Amino acid sequence: MTNNISELAALDRDHHMHPWTHFQQAERDGPLVMTRGKGVHLWDEDGREYLDAVGGMWCTQIGLGNEEMAETLAEQARTLAYTSTFVDMGNAPSARLAAKIAEIAPTGFTRTLFTTGGSTAVDSAYRMAQFVQHHRGFPGRTHILSRHASYHGSTFASASIGMRDGDRIEEFSYLEKTIHHLSAPNPYRRPEGVSAEGFTDFLVKELEEKIAEVGADKIAAFFAEPVQASGGVIIPPEGYFKRMAEVCHRHGILVVADEVVTAFGRLGEWFSSEAKFGVVPDMITSAKGLTSGYQPLGALIFSEELWQEMSGDRWFTHGFTYSGHPIACAAALKSIEIIERDGLLAHAKHVGALFQKGLKSLEDHPLVGETRGDVLIGCIENVADKETKALHPDEIDIGKRVSDAAEKMGLLVRPMGHLNVMSPPLIISEAEVEEIIVKLRASLDQVADQLV
Ligand code: PLP
Repeated sequence: MTNNISELAALDRDHHMHPWTHFQQAERDGPLVMTRGKGVHLWDEDGREYLDAVGGMWCTQIGLGNEEMAETLAEQARTLAYTSTFVDMGNAPSARLAAKIAEIAPTGFTRTLFTTGGSTAVDSAYRMAQFVQHHRGFPGRTHILSRHASYHGSTFASASIGMRDGDRIEEFSYLEKTIHHLSAPNPYRRPEGVSAEGFTDFLVKELEEKIAEVGADKIAAFFAEPVQASGGVIIPPEGYFKRMAEVCHRHGILVVADEVVTAFGRLGEWFSSEAKFGVVPDMITSAKGLTSGYQPLGALIFSEELWQEMSGDRWFTHGFTYSGHPIACAAALKSIEIIERDGLLAHAKHVGALFQKGLKSLEDHPLVGETRGDVLIGCIENVADKETKALHPDEIDIGKRVSDAAEKMGLLVRPMGHLNVMSPPLIISEAEVEEIIVKLRASLDQVADQLV
């Protein structure tokens, strides 16, 4: 097999189907093959350097090429590369990691079921919610509440729970009758006639009406990302998540906080639902930053109370071959250790404040309708008209244009429709934050020039 990079790109184009493939684009452009990563930087096949402001896929918290981590992975592979954790088999890293998560998770969250990533964590929460409701004496509670602009994964159930614009194509079917989507809490795109101050009331009323329409006795759970990440870094209005959770709990509906993106320091805390939004959910799903992207791993974390409710002479027939994989769990333990030891939560808050200030400074740009974010997650919403917030026609492909311009300047930002999103590693420096903002402005200028 070849090591030649352009031959590798050809092999990739001819044989590798990428997640989220656009067939024509894949055949026309081929992949950008990266060959090396260190800290916040990546190098491509020609040795060109990029500052990765995307953090891989919202996940490279401690940065790439960490020697301690590499040593940990190698050592675990030598010692015990794999055991199943089905039924009554276990291994040291998964036991230690479950205990460590209990230490840093919200109070009372003492139990973890490991999965292979975010989608399988969400699927697991979906099944567990129904299981819990059944054993509470409500076997009819099988429906789910979710929101528009949400992304919960790519498996059948998680893709059905999510609902981003443009993702739902007619070639697939979805769970439709039992999943109900509420409005996204996006203050910038709130419905006409709803004031900024009245937006939370509007959303809470919509939830109450939906519960009345479906019937509380049919609803198992409400799934919500504390900040809707892939839907456009939507920061909900003040009090929203807390009030939504209160309504759900009043009706016996479980609250699942999908923290696949928002945990492990992305918002400056281990987990954000309680620390940032004052919500104690019933379950938390997580993945991504859990291992800093060094290994695939997801987690469904829940309370002792829920464990007690489920317990008894019965099976929970659910889990994956790679649940509690020892190398993945060792990676997560090491990543958490580094975040703790190097004070990366506090560092994320410090550089995150500069990042948000820098993003805000771009709002004077003619292409930018709004910038938004929190700590180390951010988004630019590009518009054709700042007054009316009208979007550019699809064929302009504005988000991709901005990202392409940035890429040429050695900066990776992710295009998502008309948006550009970012989530740099927690280790990013002040100077690198500054570089992101400077290059973003230059990219926006370049695209604005192309459009006149
Ligand atoms: N949940 C959220 C909030 C996500 O952002 C994602 C992925 O982006 C997922 C779930 C799915 O995670 P995975 O791709 O690891 O299956």
